[in-house]
Amino acid sequence: MEQTRVSLERDGDIAVIVIDNPPINAGSAAVRKGLMAAITTVESDDSLQAAVLIGAGNTFIAGSDLREFGQPLAEPQLPAVIKAIEDCGKPVVAALHGAALGGGFELALGCDARVAAPGTVVGLPEVTLGIIPGAGGTQRLPRIVGIPCAIAMICGGERVGSAAALAAGLIDAEIQGDLRAAAVLHARRLSGTKRRLRDRAVPVADPAAIAEAAAAALKAGKRRPQVQAAIDAVVATATVDIEDGLADERAVFERLRVGREAYALRHQFFAERDSAKHPTLADVRPREIRRIAVIGAGTMGSGIAIAALDAGYEVLLLEQEAAALERGASRIHAHYDGRVNSGKVQAAVAAACEARLSTSLDWPRIAEADLVIEAVFEEMGVKQQVFQRIDALARPGAVLASNTSYLDLDAIAAATARPQDVIGLHFFSPANVMRLMEVVRGKASAPDALATGLAVGRKLGKLPVLAGNAFGFIGNRLHAAYRRQCEFMVEEGAAPQQVDVALEAFGFAMGPFAVADLSGLDIAWRMRQAQAATRDPAARYVHIADRLCEVGRLGRKTGAGYYRYPEGASRPQVDPAVAELIAKARSDKGISPRQLDAEEIQRRAMLSLVNEAALLVADGVAARATDVDVVLANGYGFPRWEGGPVYWARERGPCAMNTDLDILAAVSGPGFVRGDVRYLLAD
Ligand code: NAD
Repeated sequence: MEQTRVSLERDGDIAVIVIDNPPINAGSAAVRKGLMAAITTVESDDSLQAAVLIGAGNTFIAGSDLREFGQPLAEPQLPAVIKAIEDCGKPVVAALHGAALGGGFELALGCDARVAAPGTVVGLPEVTLGIIPGAGGTQRLPRIVGIPCAIAMICGGERVGSAAALAAGLIDAEIQGDLRAAAVLHARRLSGTKRRLRDRAVPVADPAAIAEAAAAALKAGKRRPQVQAAIDAVVATATVDIEDGLADERAVFERLRVGREAYALRHQFFAERDSAKHPTLADVRPREIRRIAVIGAGTMGSGIAIAALDAGYEVLLLEQEAAALERGASRIHAHYDGRVNSGKVQAAVAAACEARLSTSLDWPRIAEADLVIEAVFEEMGVKQQVFQRIDALARPGAVLASNTSYLDLDAIAAATARPQDVIGLHFFSPANVMRLMEVVRGKASAPDALATGLAVGRKLGKLPVLAGNAFGFIGNRLHAAYRRQCEFMVEEGAAPQQVDVALEAFGFAMGPFAVADLSGLDIAWRMRQAQAATRDPAARYVHIADRLCEVGRLGRKTGAGYYRYPEGASRPQVDPAVAELIAKARSDKGISPRQLDAEEIQRRAMLSLVNEAALLVADGVAARATDVDVVLANGYGFPRWEGGPVYWARERGPCAMNTDLDILAAVSGPGFVRGDVRYLLAD
């Protein structure tokens, strides 16, 4: 039997309608039905003068139940519930705490007033799910904040805290103390009145300000169709009657809700949510972490330190060299200065973060740390030496983590007498910005050390994904397979810029050769040299990247790589010298170049990811197939709205995938290891 999710309690002449759908009070069919029944009672019961809508537990409605979004929505739908509140002759006050997001905030906007506990966040994040608000958000919000601001809020999926919400008029009062009692008082004061947002005029806005807000939103929103649709719906409020505006908004919402992008984005949403869950670690308690020591104050070490400071940890930054320590400390200071100067962080907050940082060359201070994160040079000898030293100094029970990108974690752990405490924490650059973090499981890693890695990752605001200890873990191994396939295509006849343009058109943030230039060609070069002795001599090997490195073209940092980077030029420039070098590499192998079109480039790049994903799941490096999609979208600039290679493979089905992978294997040539798509079809 369907459970009742809404109850009506009475506080004298005020109805208190309590939504109770744990854990986040998600707006579901049962909640909507319960709300409708409660409003009908409020309307018909003469002993009730007004009503309060409030959430049980620790939040108001934090969003809609997305599981319902892939099918026809059950009645009553949210617009009908909101209409009933607006049509009700008695005022309804929304009492918000925790989060009022998406449909939850639209419901609140349909009420006559909104009061909120301090720390509540409100917002309309629908565009991040490929849709627009569908229950009046685009029509009611501009009536409070005006069109330009509504465009920014809706298209940016902004979450607004209670203090800012009060200043903007999104809520009428911030309540210190008993929220429910204050909301009842508020409702009683409103008795006999109605204050519907639909009756308010939309503030007149300067057309230039609207155009500016729309242009900024489209750019930030990667010109996705739902962003344009949200802008159109908000702009329409200036001229269109609210009844028509609501109907138009709903029609667009319905169309987008069952569109390809919305399905793909919902897949990403669920994949991210699942990536944090690990049946084997479910009941494992993480160790308590208060102080983190970061070893190595380079690019990654300083970024990791910032992420940890932002999350409230005490951080000790250690180095071997005074000058490197000084550079790292100044980088961190400059970061906070920049955040304060641009108004993104309050000076007091930045000062508190910096106050939690200490920098030192005095290694015995490692003993203060509960977690040590090593971010020194990517060389096994150096890492092992550093871990020996950490082992001698760290307190028993401290978690010891390496930020290595490729090295064997077990070999690093073997340098210590406590391999059970050693895990990988693979951050992505810039470490304080990128959401992805791989938590690497060594063969001896203790479950509670891994659970600690996942818990710290979450506290840092990251998306931690568990990965097995294999060369490149999940992300870099996928990227290597993808890049190899792109190099094959260049060898066969495509120009690097043609591959980049095709994959950027597909939606990647940057093409693979622009990425290679940005991160430096020498890292992969050194790795290929290290692997040369063990490489299968019969395997297909593209020499182009080696040739570029041999002539000193190591990427952006040397002013040239796959492209040229003349001083002062804002964009990479195509270089005829590279075309010559590629032509020579082809003729050395007797390859006559052929034309590859964008469709072939995109397809082969995607198939290379699908294939590697299947191998990763088969090898147990990825715990579940959808983790691959999470990794690519959050660490490698993969377009979220395409779902990910696993989503893409499932969409096409096993028959088509098998045929396509056979073709990929044939064009890739010797050395290509064919994956089994069955590993991708279910988690
Ligand atoms: P970096 O060269 O910028 O910094 C390394 C720092 O470690 C330097 O400041 C150096 O002085 C210090 N160091 C070297 N040996 C040391 C020792 N024995 N004791 C103490 N400090 C020592 O390098 P980075 O780019 O920050 O990379 C660090 C690690 O992070 C590497 O393992 C790398 O593979 C990994 N990583 C890098 C990236 C990236 O994009 N740069 C991304 C993910 C992971």
